[in-house]
Amino acid sequence: MPPNPFPPIDPAKQAIFDIGHAVGDLAKQLYPDGVEVPWSRDLAKTTAGTRELLPQRKPIFEASFAIDGCYCRADIMVPRNDDTWDLYEVKSATKVKDVNIADVAFQTHAIERSGVKLDRLYLVHVDNSYVRRGDIEPEKLFHAEDVTSRARALQPEVESKVAEMQRIISGACPDIAIGTHCSDPYECDLQDQCSAFLPEFNVTQLYRAHKSKIFDLIERGITAMVDVPPSELSPDQLIQQCAIASGKAHVDRKPIRAWLDSLEYPLHCLDFETMNPAVPIIDGTRPYQQIPFQFSLHTRDREGAAPRHIEFLAESALDPRPAFLEALQTIGSKGTVLAYNMGFERRILRELAEDFPAYGAFVTDLDGRFQDLIIPFNQFWYYDAKQRGSCSLKRTLPVLTDTTYDGMEISEGGQAMREYQRVVYGGVATTEKERVLRDLRDYCKQDTAALLDILDALEAKLK
Ligand code: SF4
Repeated sequence: MPPNPFPPIDPAKQAIFDIGHAVGDLAKQLYPDGVEVPWSRDLAKTTAGTRELLPQRKPIFEASFAIDGCYCRADIMVPRNDDTWDLYEVKSATKVKDVNIADVAFQTHAIERSGVKLDRLYLVHVDNSYVRRGDIEPEKLFHAEDVTSRARALQPEVESKVAEMQRIISGACPDIAIGTHCSDPYECDLQDQCSAFLPEFNVTQLYRAHKSKIFDLIERGITAMVDVPPSELSPDQLIQQCAIASGKAHVDRKPIRAWLDSLEYPLHCLDFETMNPAVPIIDGTRPYQQIPFQFSLHTRDREGAAPRHIEFLAESALDPRPAFLEALQTIGSKGTVLAYNMGFERRILRELAEDFPAYGAFVTDLDGRFQDLIIPFNQFWYYDAKQRGSCSLKRTLPVLTDTTYDGMEISEGGQAMREYQRVVYGGVATTEKERVLRDLRDYCKQDTAALLDILDALEAKLK
């Protein structure tokens, strides 16, 4: 057997799987009399287990069918009064996507070829208008959308697609170039390997280029950014190309100067960390609602002054938002509030004001004082080839300063969210909780210290 080329599942992907499993388990509560087919690596066992349960005519979880090289596990099958069943496929998303319909169409194909008749076909998804009040109510958390006609309409295609897939699987590894199929409908885990032939500064890094444009260039044999005909580039992409060709950062002094001069002291560098659980943890919140649990604030009172730092991190499993808002008021009523990609912080604040109207005036005042440190970069007033087409903080910081997030225990927002939920809501040992809370403080503090470092670096570039 050739070696498995797939990288191990990373924590971010595992978290997505875990959410799917948790949501799936909750959906089973919709049918308290349901029976589950035990999971096994041995497909023959799960299909035999299903065959045993079908005559009971009770809702079945994870009913499994294998036929003609097709295998599926149906999330929920519910018996109707006649000899048919309704199929419910559960998704943790908040709306039905086309790829979900194809999933249901495939399951229908496998189940009906196995001799089991299906009637209605449903996609069950999370209803993001649901507001938690007390215990989770699965019948309100979920919405079942009838997709029978859409899935049935795909049926003729399923057979030919299955035949095509089986032909491909049974042959040698196909020689397929990278393309839009590498990320649609899902991100392929082999993209690093399949893109390894691209040079260091390549066309996939073209700023805001449509994927079809990028793969058209690659198909034409143009892989290096410097080889793209200038007539095919936007003004920002031309700056990228020049920065690579010249080996020098692009610095447009005048707008950077004007923008820096527009900032008012005291200058408040602010960053939030949030969680957005699919199944609401906090009373009064909706699925996937962003709940801020931490902020870091570095304030510089006047030019050249050493910054002051304050922070907030909710340590208990109570609703963190009232204490978060209360602590944030120390920011005061004067000066610019600086964030990186401020749309996020401003959205969180507006949502907080909706849920806690007593803070409405404070939030409105704060909202009007925001400035975004991404602007010098996304306007391409400053561009360094090492940014590789990205204006994110994680790319601009190491380009302009010696600081990186390498080696930090927590080094990105998704990890911060997962770790916070694990230690605050997951019942871990106190020492473990304290360790993670310490790492969270370090991470968030670095995010706002980074804003000041970037400001100072931009100033230095203008000297
Ligand atoms: S990265 Fe693209 S080309 Fe490579 S295996 Fe995945 S889908 Fe195929």
